[in-house]
Amino acid sequence: MVSKKTTPHFGHENPHTHSQSVEAAVVNAYKGTAGTILADKGHEVVSVRPVDSIRHVVRVMYDHKIGSVVVKDQNGHLVGMLTERDLVMGFATHPDEDPDNTRADQLMTKEVVTATSETPILEILHKMSEGRFRHMPVVDGEHIAGMISIGDVVKFRLRELEYEALKLKQMIVG
Ligand code: AMP
Repeated sequence: MVSKKTTPHFGHENPHTHSQSVEAAVVNAYKGTAGTILADKGHEVVSVRPVDSIRHVVRVMYDHKIGSVVVKDQNGHLVGMLTERDLVMGFATHPDEDPDNTRADQLMTKEVVTATSETPILEILHKMSEGRFRHMPVVDGEHIAGMISIGDVVKFRLRELEYEALKLKQMIVG
């Protein structure tokens, strides 16, 4: 039996408390950062060189079961990004090109939007949505500290939702 004391005030009888609790929930949501996700998934970043062939890039993505690679120059600096989308666009618009004679830097995106470990997850989602892409490298100065995909963000948010639902249940049941 739910006691009156622990019953939260949803609905019209106490709009002030209700709006305050919604506000608190919004503030609490997405409190994680890129670093929170990387602490869980790890810091591995699969990369290729600008001169690598597209056949090599496809093989690397297939072997690692991933949808994107970063492109690094000989000094380890991030110079681009290649995802499944670039491969689809490349093959669709140039179906006769030889994948052995097409280089990574011919299909890669050069202006890469990055995050740092401190970037809030909500900001990453906004940038992905605005830029219409699903991957974001996390950088620490010149060093590439990890890769976050939209799948990682969804997984994180699902966990948060499950946790929030559990907390609500505990509030209601007491
Ligand atoms: P995606 O949705 O991640 O497969 O990428 C869609 C397009 O955006 C492709 O042309 C990618 O090269 C590009 N792209 C992916 N991630 C980024 C990023 N973080 N910054 C800039 N462009 C990106």
